[in-house]
Amino acid sequence: MALPLPPIAQPEDPEEIPEIFQPGDLAELPMEATPPLPVALHPAAAPKLRRVLSPETVGLPESCPGPEDLRLRDGHGRALTDLRLSVTDRCNYRCVYCRTGSEGAQFTELPMAHYLRMLRIFVSLGVEKVRLTGGEPLLRHGLLDLIREITRLRPAFSSAPLDIAITSNGHLLAAMAKDLKRAGLNRITVSMDAVDPETFSRITRIPNSLERVRDGIRAAQDAGLGPVKVNCVLLRGFNDSQIEAFAEFSRREQVIVRFIEFMPLEEGRSWSPQMVVPMREILTRLSAVRPLVALPANHASETARRFTFDDGVGEIGIIAPVSEAFCGQCSRVRITSDGKLRTCLFSQSDHDLIGLMLRGATDDEMISWIRRVVQRKEARHHIGEPGFLKPSRSMVHIGG
Ligand code: SAM
Repeated sequence: MALPLPPIAQPEDPEEIPEIFQPGDLAELPMEATPPLPVALHPAAAPKLRRVLSPETVGLPESCPGPEDLRLRDGHGRALTDLRLSVTDRCNYRCVYCRTGSEGAQFTELPMAHYLRMLRIFVSLGVEKVRLTGGEPLLRHGLLDLIREITRLRPAFSSAPLDIAITSNGHLLAAMAKDLKRAGLNRITVSMDAVDPETFSRITRIPNSLERVRDGIRAAQDAGLGPVKVNCVLLRGFNDSQIEAFAEFSRREQVIVRFIEFMPLEEGRSWSPQMVVPMREILTRLSAVRPLVALPANHASETARRFTFDDGVGEIGIIAPVSEAFCGQCSRVRITSDGKLRTCLFSQSDHDLIGLMLRGATDDEMISWIRRVVQRKEARHHIGEPGFLKPSRSMVHIGG
C-alpha cells in the first residue's frame, strides 16, 4: 500500500521556526516518582576501592571489578557506548513518513548546560560516541557552543577521543558546515530520501529543498566533514524507484549512501509490512547497476551492512532493522530533547533523568539511577510480531 502523495505545501519559513522553550518552563515539568538513590561507584573511585577492598582483606571473590566491569552495561551484557541526544523537538521539514504535517514540536528543550552534564556523566560510564539529533539539530541555538564543550570530554575506558556526530536534514548545513567542523564535529549524516527534486519536495513538504540539501552536503565535504553519510528511508511505491539513482549519486558525489528500512515509528499510522523494502530486494536492484562487493564492518556494533561496486567507486550501506534485526549488538541509549532517558527506540515509556537532576541529585546518584534503568534495556524490538505495540514516542520526538 503506497502513501498518498501530498501536494507541496507552502509551510512556514523553515529557518524561522520559533523557539518553544521558555525560561521557567522546567519548573512546570511534572516530576515522576523516582526510586530511592543509593550511592554509586564512580569509575574514578575504582582503583582506590580495589586497594582497600582487596579479596584478602574483605573476603571478596577473586573476580573483583576491573575497569571494564565498571562500564555501563544492560541486563543482557551489552556495553552502552553510543548516546543519541536530541537537542530540539522542532523540525523544519514535515517528511510524510515521519510526521503528520499538522503537528509541531511537542516537547520542551533544555538549557545546553543540562545536556552537557548528562553527557559528562554518560561519558564517564563508557559512552564513546555522541550523536546530536532532533527534531532538526541545526535549528538549535547554542549548538556550536555545545559541540565545543563536548570536545573537552574524554572517554573513560578508551584512549581515543570522543566521536561527535550529527544527524541533520541538511537544510541549514551549507551556511553552518565550516563552523560545525571548527567547533569540533567529527562526522555528519544527512537524511535525504530522494535524488529527484520533485519526489524529494513531496516527501519533505518543502519546495526546492533538494538543492539546499545537496549544497549542504557539498559544503560539509569542503569543510572536511567527509565522507558524508546520506541516509534514505525507503518506502514501497513512494521512493523505491530511487534506488539505482542513489547508487549513481554515491559514486558521483563520493558520499556513503545508506538505505534504511522503514520502521513503525511515524507520528501517524502509515506503516505496514508491505511498505518496507527489504535488504535483499535492495541488493538485487543495486547488483543490476554494477556487481556489488561486500566490505567488512568497521566495528562489531555497526548497524549497516557495507558494500561497494566492483570498481571500488561508491559505498552503499543497508540498515535492515526490520528484515534483519541487529538488536543483539545494540550499544545505544537515547536522551530526548526534554531530558528523558530511553533505552530503546521502541520503549513503551521513558525515564525521567531531568526530573532526577532538577531535584538536586549528585553525579553518583545519577550514575546509580542510570545503571539501574539500563539494566532493564529491552532485549530486542518486536516489529511485525503479533501484539506489537507502537512506542510511546515517534522517531522525530525521540531523536533518530
Ligand atoms: N532532522 C534530522 C534528520 O532529518 O536527519 C534528525 C531527526 S530525523 C527523525 C532522524 C532520522 O530518522 C532521519 O534519517 C529519518 O529519515 C529517520 N526516520 C524517521 N522516521 C523513520 C521511520 N519511521 N523509520 C526509519 N527511519 C525513520
